[in-house]
Amino acid sequence: MNGKKEKVVIVGGGLVGPVCALYMAKRGYDVSLYEYRHDPRELGYIRGRSINLAASHRARRALRDLGIEDAILRVGIPMKGRFLHVPRNVLNEKLLYATKQYPNLQLFFNHKLIDVQIDKGLITFIRTDTNATVEVKADLVVGADGAHSTLRKCVLQKPLFDFSQTYVNHGYVELSIAPEFGKQMEPNHLHIWPRGNFMMIALPNYDNSWTLTLFMPFEKFYALDADDKVLNFFYDTFPDSVPLIGEKQLVKDFFRIPPSALISVKCNKYDVEDKVLLIGDAAHAIVPFYGQGMNAGFEDCTIFNEILDECNDNVPLSLKLFSTRRKNDAHAICDLALYNYVEMRDLVTRPSYKLRKFLDDF
Ligand code: FAD
Repeated sequence: MNGKKEKVVIVGGGLVGPVCALYMAKRGYDVSLYEYRHDPRELGYIRGRSINLAASHRARRALRDLGIEDAILRVGIPMKGRFLHVPRNVLNEKLLYATKQYPNLQLFFNHKLIDVQIDKGLITFIRTDTNATVEVKADLVVGADGAHSTLRKCVLQKPLFDFSQTYVNHGYVELSIAPEFGKQMEPNHLHIWPRGNFMMIALPNYDNSWTLTLFMPFEKFYALDADDKVLNFFYDTFPDSVPLIGEKQLVKDFFRIPPSALISVKCNKYDVEDKVLLIGDAAHAIVPFYGQGMNAGFEDCTIFNEILDECNDNVPLSLKLFSTRRKNDAHAICDLALYNYVEMRDLVTRPSYKLRKFLDDF
């Protein structure tokens, strides 16, 4: 494949898929993006996983390349000394709206990837609304389908493709502070309540509300199995947060969904047989403590775009170069993110001589 009218299928319309789709459409490829969920722009606000995201230089570089940085900055909150902070659903929707400018980019929602025959370039989806099977051919298949990527599962048996995943023994729940109470907190900062082997953080939202994330070992979550146990735990551990959240809201949010798991994924390469590319969490899911998962995923797209420039759109060559250039950095951010959990929940409160000892032992 060495031409700009080739067909690219991108699986996953989360954060990274649309960014890759925009880059490829801008280059003139014939791009189709398939997403399992319904179109989020038609559903309005849905409360789900990690509703806020810290966007740093890496994500902003991609947004700038694609001409949508200003639109995102307008809905972000600066966090001094760190990053810009944006709501996940707004970012997702703005990326999807941005696809409208390219007639060579089409979106298909309610399409769940179930299989890929790499040698034939044949991709099979099930429509989640009608149950119909849809088969599509492509010259390049890009997997942006997240940490539990189906495309990655389809290539696992290919020779010389190594993959590992690690769950940390800690989960998280999201809580919230309503705008009327949120005004009492200093915005433009990441707030942290470090408590040794667990922690809570708070990130500001545009409307003065705050999103709190409590990270702690699963067994600690499971021990809090009744309203009064949750309230006692918060009064003992984070007493200043209870009047801000409100007792009723705290209990409601705490039990809304079970604590979510955190996973790290490492692969030894991201290209398979000149036809498949893995990017974003599908390639390198990381724990969220550096706030860099999405940033690294957007950077994948920027780097792949630069490599296509260098290789004059020779895609097989670009795929190989991408794996070579990206692997060490992806593995490094994976490890740094795990380490930063210890930093945030514990080391941040230790005097420097104890810190030295801890780092020596780490
Ligand atoms: P996803 O966002 O997971 O999107 C994958 C998409 O693929 C989904 O829309 C899914 O429906 C779709 N899909 C899945 N399977 C299929 C299938 N079979 N067929 C079709 N479609 C499919 N990163 C930051 O940079 N900054 C932060 O502050 C930050 N905070 C975080 C906080 C938490 C608590 C967590 C858990 C993560 C955080 N991250 C952060 C990481 C960030 O959320 C991820 O790195 C990012 O969402 C990865 O984007 P993605 O598009 O690769 O995957």
